Amino acid sequence: MYSKRFCTAIWRILNPDLEIINRIVYQDSINESHRRLNREYRLICIDHYSNGTMRCECCGEDIYEFLNLDHVDNDGAEDSKRFKSSRSFYKYLIDTGFQKRLKVMCFNCNCARDKDPDKICPHKRRICQIMKW
Ligand SMILES: [Zn+2]
Ligand SMILES: [Zn+2]
Repeated sequence: MYSKRFCTAIWRILNPDLEIINRIVYQDSINESHRRLNREYRLICIDHYSNGTMRCECCGEDIYEFLNLDHVDNDGAEDSKRFKSSRSFYKYLIDTGFQKRLKVMCFNCNCARDKDPDKICPHKRRICQIMKW
């Protein structure tokens, strides 16, 4: 009686083409289900963190594709290291009851705030300057 691992190895040697096809088909369906889950999780998170408004909390941008989650505590770099994919990050947020402090911002506001030394979006900075705060 040969072990399952041995049989699989032999099967792979005898059926190199089938092996590749099998892997492509299988991997495609995994990728598709991951993409679908990613879309669902993202929608749930954006909805939650925007309090159902689905808008950038700084400029009011409401085109969904532009929206992003902004780390209130500026610990986004740690999370990028910790979570291999955005899907696993969204899943973590959902599983832990959205305990992490995030807000919904568009990519423009998110990136500009990230580059600002005081972590303030230029939209807000301009208001400060006009009002002389
Ligand atoms: Zn914005
Ligand atoms: Zn802004």
